[in-house]
Amino acid sequence: CKEALSTQRRRENSTPKPESDTLVARPGPPAIVEGIEGCIGNTPLFRIKSLSDETGCEILGKAEFLNGAGQSSKDRVALSMIEIAQEQGILTPYSGDTIYEGTSGSTGISLATLARAKGYLAHICMPSDQAIEKSDLLLKLGAIVDRVPPAPIVEKDNFVNRARALAQAHTASSTRPSSDGSDEPRNSKGRGFFADQFENEANWRAHYGGSGPEIYAQCEGKLDAFVAGAGTGGTISGVARYLKPLLPNITVVLADPQGSGLYNRVRYGVMFDVKEREGTRRRPQVDTIVEGIGINRVTANFEAGKELVDDAVRVTDAQALAMARWLVEKDGVFIGSSSAVNCFAAVKTAQKLGPGHRIVTVLSDSGSRHLSRFWAKAGDVGGAVDTKLEDVLNARDED
Ligand code: PMP
Repeated sequence: CKEALSTQRRRENSTPKPESDTLVARPGPPAIVEGIEGCIGNTPLFRIKSLSDETGCEILGKAEFLNGAGQSSKDRVALSMIEIAQEQGILTPYSGDTIYEGTSGSTGISLATLARAKGYLAHICMPSDQAIEKSDLLLKLGAIVDRVPPAPIVEKDNFVNRARALAQAHTASSTRPSSDGSDEPRNSKGRGFFADQFENEANWRAHYGGSGPEIYAQCEGKLDAFVAGAGTGGTISGVARYLKPLLPNITVVLADPQGSGLYNRVRYGVMFDVKEREGTRRRPQVDTIVEGIGINRVTANFEAGKELVDDAVRVTDAQALAMARWLVEKDGVFIGSSSAVNCFAAVKTAQKLGPGHRIVTVLSDSGSRHLSRFWAKAGDVGGAVDTKLEDVLNARDED
Protein backbone atom coordinates (compact mmCIF):
# COMPACT_ATOMS: atom_id res chain seq x y z
CA CYS A 1 0.00 0.00 0.00
CA LYS A 2 2.85 2.35 0.94
CA GLU A 3 4.51 1.51 -2.35
CA ALA A 4 1.33 2.20 -4.29
CA LEU A 5 1.04 5.60 -2.59
CA SER A 6 4.57 6.59 -3.43
CA THR A 7 4.09 5.43 -7.06
CA GLN A 8 1.00 7.60 -7.24
CA ARG A 9 2.93 10.57 -5.80
CA ARG A 10 5.73 10.06 -8.29
CA ARG A 11 3.17 9.97 -11.09
CA GLU A 12 1.48 13.14 -9.82
CA ASN A 13 4.80 14.96 -9.65
CA SER A 14 5.77 13.93 -13.14
CA THR A 15 2.32 14.72 -14.66
CA PRO A 16 2.57 18.16 -16.25
CA LYS A 17 0.07 20.58 -14.70
CA PRO A 18 -2.02 22.74 -17.05
CA GLU A 19 -0.39 26.16 -17.30
CA SER A 20 -3.67 27.97 -16.96
CA ASP A 21 -7.03 26.91 -15.70
CA THR A 22 -8.63 27.03 -19.17
CA LEU A 23 -8.30 23.28 -19.56
CA VAL A 24 -9.95 22.41 -16.26
CA ALA A 25 -12.53 25.22 -16.24
CA ARG A 26 -14.37 24.07 -19.39
CA PRO A 27 -17.85 22.69 -18.85
CA GLY A 28 -18.59 19.17 -20.00
CA PRO A 29 -19.30 18.47 -23.67
CA PRO A 30 -22.81 19.23 -24.93
CA ALA A 31 -25.39 16.44 -24.93
CA ILE A 32 -26.20 14.33 -28.00
CA VAL A 33 -28.46 16.22 -30.41
CA GLU A 34 -30.78 15.20 -33.25
CA GLY A 35 -29.28 15.64 -36.71
CA ILE A 36 -27.08 18.38 -38.10
CA GLU A 37 -29.75 20.98 -37.22
CA GLY A 38 -29.06 20.15 -33.58
CA CYS A 39 -25.58 21.62 -34.10
CA ILE A 40 -27.00 25.10 -34.74
CA GLY A 41 -26.86 27.76 -32.03
CA ASN A 42 -25.23 27.83 -28.60
CA THR A 43 -22.04 29.17 -30.12
CA PRO A 44 -19.15 30.25 -27.87
CA LEU A 45 -18.57 33.87 -26.89
CA PHE A 46 -14.88 34.57 -26.48
CA ARG A 47 -12.73 37.48 -25.36
CA ILE A 48 -10.79 38.84 -28.31
CA LYS A 49 -7.61 39.32 -26.36
CA SER A 50 -5.69 41.78 -28.53
CA LEU A 51 -8.61 44.18 -29.00
CA SER A 52 -9.57 43.97 -25.33
CA ASP A 53 -6.01 44.61 -24.14
CA GLU A 54 -5.53 47.51 -26.55
CA THR A 55 -8.80 49.28 -25.74
CA GLY A 56 -9.19 48.52 -22.03
CA CYS A 57 -12.69 47.28 -22.79
CA GLU A 58 -13.78 43.67 -22.93
CA ILE A 59 -14.46 42.97 -26.62
CA LEU A 60 -16.24 39.64 -27.02
CA GLY A 61 -16.82 37.77 -30.30
CA LYS A 62 -19.81 35.49 -30.80
CA ALA A 63 -18.30 32.61 -32.77
CA GLU A 64 -21.13 32.17 -35.27
CA PHE A 65 -18.78 30.47 -37.73
CA LEU A 66 -19.14 27.46 -35.42
CA ASN A 67 -22.79 26.87 -36.31
CA GLY A 68 -22.72 23.31 -37.53
CA ALA A 69 -24.73 23.17 -40.76
CA GLY A 70 -23.58 25.94 -43.10
CA GLN A 71 -20.98 27.31 -40.67
CA SER A 72 -22.33 30.83 -40.35
CA SER A 73 -24.90 32.87 -38.44
CA LYS A 74 -27.28 32.17 -41.32
CA ASP A 75 -27.86 28.63 -40.07
CA ARG A 76 -30.18 30.04 -37.43
CA VAL A 77 -32.18 31.96 -40.02
CA ALA A 78 -32.37 29.14 -42.57
CA LEU A 79 -33.61 26.71 -39.92
CA SER A 80 -36.18 29.20 -38.65
CA MET A 81 -37.51 29.99 -42.15
CA ILE A 82 -37.82 26.28 -43.03
CA GLU A 83 -39.46 25.30 -39.73
CA ILE A 84 -42.01 28.11 -39.87
CA ALA A 85 -42.85 27.30 -43.52
CA GLN A 86 -43.33 23.66 -42.52
CA GLU A 87 -45.63 24.65 -39.64
CA GLN A 88 -47.65 26.77 -42.06
CA GLY A 89 -47.89 23.88 -44.52
CA ILE A 90 -45.98 25.81 -47.20
CA LEU A 91 -43.18 23.21 -47.23
CA THR A 92 -43.53 19.47 -46.85
CA PRO A 93 -40.44 17.29 -46.35
CA TYR A 94 -39.67 14.74 -49.10
CA SER A 95 -42.53 16.02 -51.31
CA GLY A 96 -40.26 17.36 -54.06
CA ASP A 97 -40.61 20.98 -52.84
CA THR A 98 -37.81 23.34 -53.86
CA ILE A 99 -36.48 26.18 -51.71
CA TYR A 100 -35.50 29.29 -53.71
CA GLU A 101 -33.39 32.10 -52.27
CA GLY A 102 -31.53 35.23 -53.30
CA THR A 103 -28.36 35.43 -51.22
CA SER A 104 -24.79 36.67 -51.10
CA GLY A 105 -23.99 33.04 -50.31
CA SER A 106 -24.18 32.26 -46.59
CA THR A 107 -27.97 31.93 -46.39
CA GLY A 108 -27.89 29.82 -49.53
CA ILE A 109 -25.28 27.49 -48.07
CA SER A 110 -27.28 27.08 -44.85
CA LEU A 111 -30.52 26.52 -46.79
CA ALA A 112 -28.90 24.04 -49.20
CA THR A 113 -27.40 22.07 -46.28
CA LEU A 114 -30.67 21.94 -44.37
CA ALA A 115 -32.57 21.16 -47.58
CA ARG A 116 -30.51 17.98 -47.88
CA ALA A 117 -31.14 17.15 -44.25
CA LYS A 118 -34.89 17.67 -44.54
CA GLY A 119 -35.74 16.35 -48.00
CA TYR A 120 -35.94 19.46 -50.20
CA LEU A 121 -34.21 20.74 -53.30
CA ALA A 122 -32.45 24.10 -53.25
CA HIS A 123 -32.16 26.67 -56.03
CA ILE A 124 -29.91 29.59 -55.14
CA CYS A 125 -29.49 32.92 -56.97
CA MET A 126 -26.43 34.96 -56.04
CA PRO A 127 -24.58 37.95 -57.48
CA SER A 128 -21.71 36.82 -59.71
CA ASP A 129 -19.17 39.04 -57.95
CA GLN A 130 -19.31 37.09 -54.67
CA ALA A 131 -16.47 34.70 -53.73
CA ILE A 132 -16.47 31.68 -56.03
CA GLU A 133 -15.92 29.20 -53.16
CA LYS A 134 -19.47 29.89 -51.98
CA SER A 135 -21.07 28.85 -55.29
CA ASP A 136 -18.61 25.92 -55.56
CA LEU A 137 -19.77 24.72 -52.17
CA LEU A 138 -23.42 25.14 -53.14
CA LEU A 139 -22.85 22.91 -56.18
CA LYS A 140 -21.20 20.26 -54.01
CA LEU A 141 -24.31 20.32 -51.83
CA GLY A 142 -26.42 19.58 -54.92
CA ALA A 143 -28.07 22.99 -55.16
CA ILE A 144 -28.90 24.59 -58.49
CA VAL A 145 -26.93 27.83 -58.62
CA ASP A 146 -27.61 30.93 -60.75
CA ARG A 147 -24.78 33.47 -60.61
CA VAL A 148 -26.46 36.63 -61.86
CA PRO A 149 -24.76 39.94 -62.76
CA PRO A 150 -24.88 42.41 -59.85
CA ALA A 151 -27.92 44.64 -60.27
CA PRO A 152 -29.95 47.00 -58.07
CA ILE A 153 -33.06 45.67 -56.34
CA VAL A 154 -35.32 47.70 -58.64
CA GLU A 155 -34.15 45.66 -61.65
CA LYS A 156 -35.89 42.46 -62.71
CA ASP A 157 -32.61 40.55 -62.95
CA ASN A 158 -31.51 41.34 -59.39
CA PHE A 159 -30.65 38.08 -57.58
CA VAL A 160 -33.53 38.42 -55.12
CA ASN A 161 -36.10 39.20 -57.83
CA ARG A 162 -34.84 36.27 -59.90
CA ALA A 163 -35.28 33.83 -56.98
CA ARG A 164 -38.81 35.12 -56.28
CA ALA A 165 -39.85 34.82 -59.93
CA LEU A 166 -38.44 31.29 -60.22
CA ALA A 167 -40.32 30.15 -57.11
CA GLN A 168 -43.58 31.62 -58.43
CA ALA A 169 -43.11 30.03 -61.86
CA HIS A 170 -42.33 26.68 -60.23
CA THR A 171 -45.47 26.69 -58.11
CA ALA A 172 -47.62 27.86 -61.04
CA SER A 173 -46.38 25.02 -63.26
CA SER A 174 -46.70 22.28 -60.67
CA THR A 175 -49.94 23.07 -58.82
CA ARG A 176 -53.46 24.31 -59.44
CA PRO A 177 -55.63 26.16 -56.94
CA SER A 178 -58.17 23.93 -55.16
CA SER A 179 -61.66 24.97 -54.04
CA ASP A 180 -60.38 26.01 -50.57
CA GLY A 181 -57.73 28.28 -52.15
CA SER A 182 -54.76 26.07 -51.29
CA ASP A 183 -52.45 24.64 -53.93
CA GLU A 184 -53.05 21.09 -55.11
CA PRO A 185 -50.25 19.17 -56.78
CA ARG A 186 -50.60 18.90 -60.55
CA ASN A 187 -47.50 16.73 -60.98
CA SER A 188 -44.58 15.41 -58.90
CA LYS A 189 -42.50 18.59 -59.10
CA GLY A 190 -43.63 19.82 -55.70
CA ARG A 191 -43.99 23.51 -54.93
CA GLY A 192 -41.56 26.38 -55.05
CA PHE A 193 -40.90 28.18 -51.74
CA PHE A 194 -39.25 31.61 -51.84
CA ALA A 195 -37.48 31.85 -48.46
CA ASP A 196 -37.08 35.66 -48.75
CA GLN A 197 -34.55 36.35 -45.98
CA PHE A 198 -34.79 40.13 -46.50
CA GLU A 199 -38.52 40.40 -45.87
CA ASN A 200 -39.32 37.15 -44.02
CA GLU A 201 -39.60 38.01 -40.32
CA ALA A 202 -38.66 34.47 -39.33
CA ASN A 203 -35.16 35.92 -39.81
CA TRP A 204 -35.03 38.47 -36.96
CA ARG A 205 -37.11 36.14 -34.81
CA ALA A 206 -34.37 33.49 -35.06
CA HIS A 207 -31.95 35.95 -33.46
CA TYR A 208 -34.56 37.19 -30.97
CA GLY A 209 -35.07 33.61 -29.82
CA GLY A 210 -31.45 32.43 -30.24
CA SER A 211 -28.45 34.74 -30.46
CA GLY A 212 -30.04 37.40 -28.20
CA PRO A 213 -30.83 35.13 -25.22
CA GLU A 214 -27.51 33.31 -25.64
CA ILE A 215 -25.51 36.56 -25.49
CA TYR A 216 -27.48 37.74 -22.46
CA ALA A 217 -26.92 34.45 -20.63
CA GLN A 218 -23.25 34.19 -21.59
CA CYS A 219 -22.66 37.73 -20.29
CA GLU A 220 -24.77 37.04 -17.20
CA GLY A 221 -26.75 40.13 -18.11
CA LYS A 222 -23.70 42.43 -18.07
CA LEU A 223 -22.93 44.14 -21.35
CA ASP A 224 -22.74 47.73 -22.51
CA ALA A 225 -22.84 47.54 -26.29
CA PHE A 226 -23.78 45.24 -29.15
CA VAL A 227 -22.18 45.83 -32.54
CA ALA A 228 -23.28 44.20 -35.81
CA GLY A 229 -23.55 44.84 -39.52
CA ALA A 230 -26.77 44.49 -41.48
CA GLY A 231 -27.19 42.47 -44.66
CA THR A 232 -30.86 41.79 -44.17
CA GLY A 233 -30.95 43.43 -40.72
CA GLY A 234 -32.10 40.21 -39.03
CA THR A 235 -29.19 39.92 -36.61
CA ILE A 236 -29.11 43.50 -35.36
CA SER A 237 -32.91 43.76 -35.09
CA GLY A 238 -33.44 40.40 -33.40
CA VAL A 239 -30.64 40.80 -30.87
CA ALA A 240 -31.51 44.44 -30.16
CA ARG A 241 -35.18 43.60 -29.64
CA TYR A 242 -34.20 40.96 -27.11
CA LEU A 243 -31.54 42.93 -25.25
CA LYS A 244 -32.98 46.47 -25.12
CA PRO A 245 -35.93 45.76 -22.81
CA LEU A 246 -33.62 43.88 -20.44
CA LEU A 247 -30.75 46.38 -20.66
CA PRO A 248 -32.25 49.79 -21.49
CA ASN A 249 -28.82 51.47 -21.31
CA ILE A 250 -27.17 49.20 -23.84
CA THR A 251 -25.78 50.91 -26.97
CA VAL A 252 -26.63 49.16 -30.23
CA VAL A 253 -24.18 50.05 -32.98
CA LEU A 254 -24.50 49.32 -36.69
CA ALA A 255 -21.22 48.38 -38.40
CA ASP A 256 -21.59 49.54 -41.98
CA PRO A 257 -19.21 48.93 -44.89
CA GLN A 258 -18.38 51.60 -47.46
CA GLY A 259 -21.04 51.98 -50.14
CA SER A 260 -23.91 51.09 -47.82
CA GLY A 261 -26.61 53.66 -47.21
CA LEU A 262 -27.56 52.58 -43.70
CA TYR A 263 -24.86 54.68 -41.98
CA ASN A 264 -26.41 57.94 -43.14
CA ARG A 265 -29.87 56.59 -42.35
CA VAL A 266 -28.92 55.82 -38.74
CA ARG A 267 -26.65 58.80 -38.03
CA TYR A 268 -28.47 61.55 -39.88
CA GLY A 269 -31.93 60.16 -40.60
CA VAL A 270 -31.30 60.37 -44.36
CA MET A 271 -34.11 58.49 -46.05
CA PHE A 272 -33.51 56.29 -49.06
CA ASP A 273 -34.66 57.10 -52.49
CA VAL A 274 -34.27 53.62 -53.90
CA LYS A 275 -34.70 54.83 -57.48
CA GLU A 276 -31.93 57.34 -57.05
CA ARG A 277 -29.56 55.19 -54.98
CA GLU A 278 -29.99 51.83 -56.61
CA GLY A 279 -32.07 52.32 -59.65
CA THR A 280 -30.28 54.63 -62.01
CA ARG A 281 -26.96 52.91 -62.55
CA ARG A 282 -26.18 49.30 -63.34
CA ARG A 283 -23.69 48.59 -60.58
CA PRO A 284 -23.33 46.35 -57.56
CA GLN A 285 -25.91 47.07 -54.90
CA VAL A 286 -23.18 48.08 -52.49
CA ASP A 287 -19.73 49.05 -53.70
CA THR A 288 -17.44 47.15 -51.34
CA ILE A 289 -15.27 44.06 -51.21
CA VAL A 290 -17.09 43.06 -48.01
CA GLU A 291 -19.68 40.31 -48.53
CA GLY A 292 -22.93 39.80 -46.66
CA ILE A 293 -23.51 43.24 -45.14
CA GLY A 294 -24.44 46.68 -46.40
CA ILE A 295 -27.74 47.68 -48.02
CA ASN A 296 -29.32 50.73 -49.58
CA ARG A 297 -32.89 50.09 -48.58
CA VAL A 298 -34.85 49.40 -45.40
CA THR A 299 -35.85 45.73 -45.45
CA ALA A 300 -38.60 44.34 -43.23
CA ASN A 301 -35.90 42.79 -41.03
CA PHE A 302 -34.04 46.09 -40.57
CA GLU A 303 -37.34 47.89 -40.07
CA ALA A 304 -38.12 45.51 -37.19
CA GLY A 305 -35.31 46.95 -35.07
CA LYS A 306 -34.22 50.19 -36.68
CA GLU A 307 -35.55 52.40 -33.88
CA LEU A 308 -33.29 50.49 -31.46
CA VAL A 309 -30.05 51.23 -33.33
CA ASP A 310 -28.29 54.05 -31.48
CA ASP A 311 -25.24 54.67 -33.58
CA ALA A 312 -23.36 53.60 -36.70
CA VAL A 313 -19.70 53.24 -37.67
CA ARG A 314 -18.63 53.35 -41.31
CA VAL A 315 -15.76 51.02 -42.18
CA THR A 316 -13.75 51.23 -45.40
CA ASP A 317 -12.50 48.19 -47.30
CA ALA A 318 -8.92 49.10 -46.35
CA GLN A 319 -9.86 49.19 -42.66
CA ALA A 320 -11.70 45.84 -42.89
CA LEU A 321 -8.71 44.21 -44.61
CA ALA A 322 -6.30 45.63 -42.02
CA MET A 323 -8.50 44.41 -39.14
CA ALA A 324 -8.78 40.91 -40.64
CA ARG A 325 -4.98 40.71 -40.90
CA TRP A 326 -4.60 42.06 -37.34
CA LEU A 327 -6.86 39.34 -35.88
CA VAL A 328 -4.78 36.63 -37.53
CA GLU A 329 -1.49 38.24 -36.51
CA LYS A 330 -2.37 38.88 -32.88
CA ASP A 331 -5.05 36.32 -31.99
CA GLY A 332 -4.98 33.51 -34.55
CA VAL A 333 -8.59 34.37 -35.38
CA PHE A 334 -9.30 33.87 -39.11
CA ILE A 335 -12.59 35.50 -40.00
CA GLY A 336 -14.56 36.70 -43.02
CA SER A 337 -15.06 40.21 -44.28
CA SER A 338 -18.26 41.13 -42.42
CA SER A 339 -16.74 39.96 -39.13
CA ALA A 340 -13.73 42.21 -39.77
CA VAL A 341 -16.09 45.17 -40.24
CA ASN A 342 -17.84 44.25 -36.99
CA CYS A 343 -14.56 44.05 -35.06
CA PHE A 344 -13.40 47.39 -36.45
CA ALA A 345 -16.66 49.00 -35.35
CA ALA A 346 -16.34 47.31 -31.94
CA VAL A 347 -12.96 49.02 -31.42
CA LYS A 348 -14.42 52.39 -32.42
CA THR A 349 -17.28 51.81 -29.99
CA ALA A 350 -14.78 50.93 -27.23
CA GLN A 351 -12.92 54.18 -27.87
CA LYS A 352 -16.17 56.12 -27.74
CA LEU A 353 -17.45 54.50 -24.53
CA GLY A 354 -14.03 54.53 -22.79
CA PRO A 355 -12.24 51.74 -20.87
CA GLY A 356 -14.08 49.32 -18.62
CA HIS A 357 -17.02 48.54 -20.88
CA ARG A 358 -18.08 45.18 -22.28
CA ILE A 359 -18.85 45.06 -26.00
CA VAL A 360 -20.23 42.07 -27.88
CA THR A 361 -19.88 41.64 -31.62
CA VAL A 362 -20.60 38.91 -34.16
CA LEU A 363 -18.08 36.75 -36.02
CA SER A 364 -20.49 35.68 -38.75
CA ASP A 365 -18.33 33.36 -40.82
CA SER A 366 -14.80 32.07 -41.33
CA GLY A 367 -12.10 33.49 -43.57
CA SER A 368 -12.10 30.27 -45.55
CA ARG A 369 -15.33 31.45 -47.24
CA HIS A 370 -13.44 34.48 -48.52
CA LEU A 371 -10.11 33.14 -49.77
CA SER A 372 -10.51 34.05 -53.44
CA ARG A 373 -11.71 37.60 -52.94
CA PHE A 374 -11.36 39.37 -49.58
CA TRP A 375 -8.40 37.34 -48.35
CA ALA A 376 -6.76 37.41 -51.80
CA LYS A 377 -6.67 41.17 -51.35
CA ALA A 378 -5.61 40.98 -47.70
CA GLY A 379 -2.64 38.80 -48.67
CA ASP A 380 -0.68 36.49 -46.41
CA VAL A 381 -0.05 37.66 -42.89
CA GLY A 382 3.74 37.39 -42.68
CA GLY A 383 5.54 35.79 -39.73
CA ALA A 384 7.52 38.63 -38.17
CA VAL A 385 5.07 41.51 -38.23
CA ASP A 386 4.27 43.90 -35.45
CA THR A 387 1.32 45.97 -36.57
CA LYS A 388 0.07 48.78 -34.32
CA LEU A 389 -3.69 49.17 -33.79
CA GLU A 390 -3.32 52.80 -34.90
CA ASP A 391 -2.20 51.52 -38.33
CA VAL A 392 -5.36 49.41 -38.58
CA LEU A 393 -7.58 52.32 -37.58
CA ASN A 394 -5.89 54.65 -40.09
CA ALA A 395 -5.64 52.14 -42.96
CA ARG A 396 -6.28 53.68 -46.38
CA ASP A 397 -6.66 52.32 -49.89
CA GLU A 398 -3.29 52.07 -51.62
CA ASP A 399 -4.40 53.82 -54.79
N1 PMP B 1 -22.18 38.30 -42.39
C1 PMP B 1 -22.37 37.46 -43.42
C2 PMP B 1 -21.19 36.70 -43.93
C3 PMP B 1 -23.62 37.33 -44.00
O1 PMP B 1 -23.80 36.50 -45.05
C4 PMP B 1 -24.69 38.09 -43.49
C5 PMP B 1 -26.07 37.94 -44.07
N2 PMP B 1 -26.21 38.39 -45.38
C6 PMP B 1 -24.45 38.98 -42.45
C7 PMP B 1 -23.19 39.03 -41.90
C8 PMP B 1 -25.51 39.93 -41.94
O2 PMP B 1 -26.50 39.39 -41.22
P1 PMP B 1 -28.00 39.91 -41.32
O3 PMP B 1 -28.55 39.42 -42.61
O4 PMP B 1 -28.65 39.27 -40.15
O5 PMP B 1 -28.05 41.39 -41.27
